[in-house]
Amino acid sequence: MGNIVLNLEMNKIMEMRNFYKKNILDKNIPGSVFAAKTPACMITAYKSGKVLFQGNDSEKEANRWGRASTSATSNKPASSSKAKGNLPNGIGLMSAIGSDEVGTGDFFGPITVVAAYVRKENIPLLKELGVRDSKDLNDDKIIAIAKVIKDIIPFSLMTLKNEKYNQVQQSGMSQGKMKAILHNQAILNVLDKISPEKPEAILIDQFVQASTYYQHLKSQKAIAKENVYFSTKAEGIHLAVAAASILARYAFIQYIDKLSDSAGFKIPKGAGAQVDVAAAKLIMSKGRDILPSFVKLHFANTDKAIALVNKKRN
Ligand code: MG
Repeated sequence: MGNIVLNLEMNKIMEMRNFYKKNILDKNIPGSVFAAKTPACMITAYKSGKVLFQGNDSEKEANRWGRASTSATSNKPASSSKAKGNLPNGIGLMSAIGSDEVGTGDFFGPITVVAAYVRKENIPLLKELGVRDSKDLNDDKIIAIAKVIKDIIPFSLMTLKNEKYNQVQQSGMSQGKMKAILHNQAILNVLDKISPEKPEAILIDQFVQASTYYQHLKSQKAIAKENVYFSTKAEGIHLAVAAASILARYAFIQYIDKLSDSAGFKIPKGAGAQVDVAAAKLIMSKGRDILPSFVKLHFANTDKAIALVNKKRN
């Protein structure tokens, strides 16, 4: 599937909207002027003037309107070339795999880890689609952006469900080790997907020192090591990490929705008092045995929820 990006004047974009008026989609994509779908091409025009053509007819459709911009270097750099710690210069503009995780601090729900590959020529496009630090985005935005980028960039999602999480946690594995194994596996999966192409860098949103990370992976059959870098706040260093974070949060939100459906009420995120109340409600309606498939049992919230139930029953 080809992706083509054109930079067009707004009057041209209006002309396009008219041309494709029978194909316009009723779809709210952040920052877009319109989105249209022909039988073999998805066209999304943005307020900035960028127009994205996706699908088998992308070349044919794009040729009606202009010539593709050839390189990303004509665009202003994402994060200039400031080096940070041990990171290579200009890493923000490289073709890179980024990885990040969600759910480690949430009592309810799984840990989701995503590694995503962003080619340098797609960096401006992802920016256009609204990809940035997911902490600045609410759930609705996360969902809207994730639905678009999941078809544009290669990625791998690892979901450590609650049952399995509790099993390995009780066997003595630390959360740090679980995360290391999941990140490594997601990265290997993406390397496999994009092979023989290789990323110029692999950037992991840092959760432990590099030495500890590799220590955790000692027993793994394969370990991604080449061009692997670690940084805290890596979402701001390469859009691949920001994209990974958005996709991981999207998967987490979907999982929480699924849990909410089977609980029969809205499951809250986080680890505050609201999750104690929700877990108590869950125990009251479905019994205590349901907990391992909903929560991370070793959190202090488990005892608090049980205390709430006992208080109500006495
Ligand atoms: Mg992180």
